[in-house]
Amino acid sequence: MKIKESIKPLRPYQPGKGIEEVKKEHQLHHIVKLASNENVYGPSPLVKEKVNDGPIDFEIYPDGYAEKLRLKLADSLHINPDTLVFGSGSEEIIQMICRTYLEPGTNTVMATPTFPQYKHYATVENAEVREVPLLNGKHNLEKMRKQIDTQTRVVWLCTPNNPTGCYISKEELRTFLKQVSKDVLIVIDEAYYEFVFADDFPEAIPLIDAYENVLVLRTFSKAYGLAGLRVGYGVGSKDVITNLNKIRGPFNVTSIGQMAAYFALEDQRYIDRIKAKNVEVRSSLEHFCNQHGLLFDKSETNFLLIHLPTSGITVSEKLLTYGFIVRPGELLGVPNSIRVTIGKKEDMDAFKVALLECI
Ligand SMILES: *Cc1c(COP(=O)(O)O)cnc(C)c1O
Repeated sequence: MKIKESIKPLRPYQPGKGIEEVKKEHQLHHIVKLASNENVYGPSPLVKEKVNDGPIDFEIYPDGYAEKLRLKLADSLHINPDTLVFGSGSEEIIQMICRTYLEPGTNTVMATPTFPQYKHYATVENAEVREVPLLNGKHNLEKMRKQIDTQTRVVWLCTPNNPTGCYISKEELRTFLKQVSKDVLIVIDEAYYEFVFADDFPEAIPLIDAYENVLVLRTFSKAYGLAGLRVGYGVGSKDVITNLNKIRGPFNVTSIGQMAAYFALEDQRYIDRIKAKNVEVRSSLEHFCNQHGLLFDKSETNFLLIHLPTSGITVSEKLLTYGFIVRPGELLGVPNSIRVTIGKKEDMDAFKVALLECI
């Protein structure tokens, strides 16, 4: 059977090692997964409590408009409910964007390394992918702008960027938006928005009023701790949202996902606590790196990209024997590094000891 030419060079997603697999392989009881930037504390207790006694009829299709969640989220973001689109994770919205805007003969501009799904789905649509190397972990916006031409349909700004954790400042974003034609969709992926403390981090959502070509992506998978339920959203102009909705599957977000996200939004104090704990433990890890001469990228997220004097693959394999699962930088486009999710304080203290043994 013949498949689309563009899909031939792609590889199916390679999942990282699971907790049970590592337990068995290394005969360990306690495994700490620091590989996918999940919330190590889990979601707000309110979510579990409400979802457990929630009146969900499993035999009924989900609300395709996600009305309850939509109204609550619109209220908390101070936006019109019709400027929201929901996805089975923001990952699905990335796929929807590529389907809607990209085709052979068009191109798309992104940083490298950045979140790999932009390139993956753009490739499926047979669009040309223009990658601009990061500069000290940050987007090189000047060079990215120069890559934009009349055939450019989508530009991806991942801020803070995965895997470096660096962000685009308010001033940098404003300058960039002013210089780029409004015919080009600018996707601002803010998957780690809830962790950011920096004063000059831009509020991107209000920019949509002036820039109808901006689409902001957020997710319930990271700070909100709902990665397993797959809920993400986009905020954009009515025009962009209407077009994305044309290709959205009608029931793409499950009933449980909608309900859990709704209650997660109710407990904003929990998110504040997660944010505070995260920065405390991350600072301590940064301090440790400084003490031991390990370089790292300045992160505003719940992960740290640590540069090593040796292969990240080797170090991450050794770390497995101590019960720590991290992501080798080689798989993310940054050789000789590891990307480490910020875990709980006690686990990270043990991690520091193990890391010293492994490098
Ligand atoms: C985790 C992540 C996402 C995807 O999150 P979903 O679980 O699909 O909502 C999107 N962008 C970045 C940069 C991420 O790190």
